[in-house]
Amino acid sequence: MYIIPIYNVTVLPDGLTYLRADAFRKSTGQAAEQGDKVILLPAKTDNSGPVSADDFYDLAVTGVIGSPDTNGYVEIRTQDRVKVDAAEVLDDGRIQLSVSLFAGADDLPEAEAKARCAALKEELLSFSKKFEWAPVAKYLLSFCENLNALITVLSPFMEMEAAERYALLAENSAADRAAAIERILYEWIEMLRLSGEGNEKREEEYKKAYRESAIKKQIAYLQNELDEMHPENVSDLRLLEQKMEKVPLNDTARKEAGKVLHRLKSEGENSQEYAMLYDYLDFLLGLPWEKEEARQIDLNEARAVLEREHYGLKKIKERVIQQIAVLNLKKSQSGSILCFVGAPGTGKTSIGKSIAEALQREYVRVSLGGVRDEADIRGHRRTYLGSMPGRIMDGIAKAGVSNPVMVLDEVDKLSRSYNGDPAAALLEVLDPEQNNTFTDHYLNVPFDLSDVLFICTANTLDAIPAPLLNRMEVIPFSGYTETEKYHIAVEHLLPKAEQSAGIEPGHIRIPEDAMHAIIADYTMEAGVRGLKKMLDTICRTAAVRLVEGKCEELTVTADQLREFLDRKPVRHTVAQDAQQPGVVTGLAWTQSGGDVLYIETLFTKGSGKVTVTGQLGDVMKESVQIAVSLVKSLYPDKAELFEKNDLHVHVPDGAVPKDGPSAGITLTTALSSLVTGHTVSPRLAMTGEVSLRGVISPIGGLPEKLMAAKRAGISKVFIPAENEDDLADVAQEIKDDLTIIPVSTVRDVLRQTQLVNTDQR
Ligand code: ADP
Repeated sequence: MYIIPIYNVTVLPDGLTYLRADAFRKSTGQAAEQGDKVILLPAKTDNSGPVSADDFYDLAVTGVIGSPDTNGYVEIRTQDRVKVDAAEVLDDGRIQLSVSLFAGADDLPEAEAKARCAALKEELLSFSKKFEWAPVAKYLLSFCENLNALITVLSPFMEMEAAERYALLAENSAADRAAAIERILYEWIEMLRLSGEGNEKREEEYKKAYRESAIKKQIAYLQNELDEMHPENVSDLRLLEQKMEKVPLNDTARKEAGKVLHRLKSEGENSQEYAMLYDYLDFLLGLPWEKEEARQIDLNEARAVLEREHYGLKKIKERVIQQIAVLNLKKSQSGSILCFVGAPGTGKTSIGKSIAEALQREYVRVSLGGVRDEADIRGHRRTYLGSMPGRIMDGIAKAGVSNPVMVLDEVDKLSRSYNGDPAAALLEVLDPEQNNTFTDHYLNVPFDLSDVLFICTANTLDAIPAPLLNRMEVIPFSGYTETEKYHIAVEHLLPKAEQSAGIEPGHIRIPEDAMHAIIADYTMEAGVRGLKKMLDTICRTAAVRLVEGKCEELTVTADQLREFLDRKPVRHTVAQDAQQPGVVTGLAWTQSGGDVLYIETLFTKGSGKVTVTGQLGDVMKESVQIAVSLVKSLYPDKAELFEKNDLHVHVPDGAVPKDGPSAGITLTTALSSLVTGHTVSPRLAMTGEVSLRGVISPIGGLPEKLMAAKRAGISKVFIPAENEDDLADVAQEIKDDLTIIPVSTVRDVLRQTQLVNTDQR
């Protein structure tokens, strides 16, 4: 079986192809023998220079050598289409293929095929009589028994592009292919007729149509000739016009583009409108109007891509694989909209990027942070000076394909202004019922977004507008434990930091204790963004030393960290020594994961006023009132303290405002400590909402809060008993290090902190 690259020649199944005998010998190293089997592999270019496997199309055709030498040509009778599963070009220029059979739709009855071939042949022969064209072609015609053979023997005499020839081969339906061949050949005849002396009048309607298209082609051909002769004179408009011919616009877009082109032609180049119209048309023509085909993705390969770039995140990766499997089964390009929620640096955006890689699609990130106007999403109408497309269409233009993976970053940072609601516009983008005709105000023609795979990211759920949240499936990223951070640092962040500092991988060594010190003493975060920055800094400092010391490798020990990082270790928030009465450690959920916070309370001489500071607003004030009432009822003999004094409660800011309620138990305990004068250990933290009856109810963000507790060196934590089930989502290493005590009433807590006697009521 010989594999022969094909340039400049059409190959189709059941056809005839003639190859130059010397070309045949060159690509096979052998002379042709009758009956030899071949595979003809069409190339994407007409240039038969050095080749690589990418230069060829994915479909090829098998054939048998009919006659090894017909006037210096090898005649090949082609047989079937085959799909190229793998191709390789060997060093000696020969090509190796692995192929499988690729049948198409046989929807053209044989009798009809024969009749149409006969009619076309007759037309070609009658034409050849008059104009004596290409005697060889005329001779070859006599061997052709079907339309495929007709076009394959005649195509070397025509001007056809590789893509046009391949489109015939790739056409699945025999009937559609026959129609395309007829169109090409009739057009060709008309073209020859025009350029020949004959200007015969033909009445039949269909021929008029062919003629018109032939004239247009010839004008375009002449114009191109002119352009080639004077490339410096090709105007910008002409370039746009050429582009417009090639871009597969839909009807509405073509109409709009035609209108704008027309206006551009009538405007002077210096007019104000000109630049705007030009930019618009350029943008429209640059969009990916062509639909991409849905691809089957090998789940094992996708898994490997996800594993390669990210440590841990097991549940999340599995969810992504499920999504890919569903896309494969449904043969669709988009699916449910995932929303990754978690602290900064937990890998949300970078997993998005890996998903694109696993799906073998383009990746584009659209940042929504600070978006306030609807026009940011949907574009400005073209009547404005300086109007622009919105971020979604801008993203599509950047991606350059109709089916990218689009990460909409920070959906929780959308806000609203008097200029319309961006969330409502985004809703339309994400709605599968509507997004196939998404109309950007600037573009002003519908664009199909239904193949885009959208992924949203956010730091907290609270700030995502509810209707948007309903559309999405939330996937929590709860942050990394110290061990996970260690692995991420060693396996991913350090090699990358070395690379970006221009250092060979493995040449900077950071011993285990030093790496743990970076994690524990120089960063304080749920994600790994700070850690990444630290490792980048170390590698940059190391780069200077490597260059100055003319050495190749360097070890950074724990006691050198301060020098390499040029900063002090992070101060641990938890005080080591005993605390004063009235201060209790709480756990809060913040934008950057979990955090510990201190609730401080103090009596000052006064008359029962309550002051709350720390920017926490109404929710917090209500929690303070509940706590005060509870403590008054729990310690009736101390109630008068509240009348004779003013109470000041201070909660450091930073926690999300809604966290007020989950500080309920902490507030109550702090006040109890204040009135009893007993201290509570600073290494004990707690979180939970309380009701007036003293019942503790559940809270959100438990994994983040416990992780923060461990980071801050807390040893014991009270959590609401109803949150016990959520412990399943908390890493074992955290649970091992903390004493976690589920509590259901305020009394439980006060008993365990010895603020109330066990025998008290
Ligand atoms: P986010 O979008 O959640 O703020 P990023 O995706 O920007 O976070 O991640 C910050 C950095 O940390 C990136 O360089 C990313 O590659 C890295 N990173 C985060 N999680 C992991 C992980 N599990 N494995 C390897 N690298 C990670």
